[in-house]
Amino acid sequence: MPGLFSRLASVFSRFPDNNTASIDMDKYTEELLGMDMSLSVVDRLLGDLKHGHTGVDDLKNRMKDILISSQLCEPRCGILMIGINGGGKTTTIGKLGKWYGDQGYSVIAAAGDTFRAAAIEQLIIVAERAGFDIVKAMPKVDPSSVIHDAVTAYRARGKDVVIADTAGRLHTNVNLINELKKIKSVMHRVMAGDKLVTYLTLDATIGKNSFQQAKLFNEHIGVDGIIITKLDGTARAGIIFTICEELKIPIVGMGTGEGIDDFMLFDKNKFVESLFV
Ligand code: GDP
Repeated sequence: MPGLFSRLASVFSRFPDNNTASIDMDKYTEELLGMDMSLSVVDRLLGDLKHGHTGVDDLKNRMKDILISSQLCEPRCGILMIGINGGGKTTTIGKLGKWYGDQGYSVIAAAGDTFRAAAIEQLIIVAERAGFDIVKAMPKVDPSSVIHDAVTAYRARGKDVVIADTAGRLHTNVNLINELKKIKSVMHRVMAGDKLVTYLTLDATIGKNSFQQAKLFNEHIGVDGIIITKLDGTARAGIIFTICEELKIPIVGMGTGEGIDDFMLFDKNKFVESLFV
């Protein structure tokens, strides 16, 4: 992991090993806020460091205490992928399909973003590249019916994992929220007792806005885990601390590039350590 988050790590790697009394706390506070950490997270992190009591290990421990990591769902299981357009949802479905495939599991995906013909095409390409099946329908078909068919195929073909793509118009759009609620209840019913999780893709580069997205989707749909995308290109990913601290939603994975293998499971201990190298 060293070097992967070099832009994000640039703030922490300058933190002194000891003698914190010598560092400019105001400057540090400003830098952490600039990474889109909330004031309460910054307070929790820096706390009595302000008085020169502790050093880098204490800071690391505080960071690990705030973050929440969780495993990807254990097959057989279903994944409902939600998130706004451009956040990396389809790319992430490809990465997850590849990841499960590499572990020896079989995957089927539903092209549930029937709102945009281009999204269906994109999933076809990604599935081919990663080597998993998809179930698709014509554009504008009710996404619940495509996802229903995909879960039925998952059961009939004995697949290990079913992943449903969904539309991602603006998250404040009431129709989208209602559509996702319907999809979730249909998917839950057809899973017939197999585990179903809802994962949200969040673009790390958009900072505070992604916190609002997580809050809204969690309130209305329920989010079991977050896959934070584009961590390779940002120094502002402090938002994941705010999300864990304030919403208590675990992070399950990280997108670290555009390629099909640019995906890592989230391990809070490794993640924090990587910020200091
Ligand atoms: P969707 O609209 O949510 O399905 O988003 P896409 O999967 O189409 O991704 C939008 C853009 O972000 C594409 O250009 C992807 O290549 C890019 N992207 C997705 N994940 C990552 C990532 O982890 N890192 C980088 N650098 N780009 C990513």
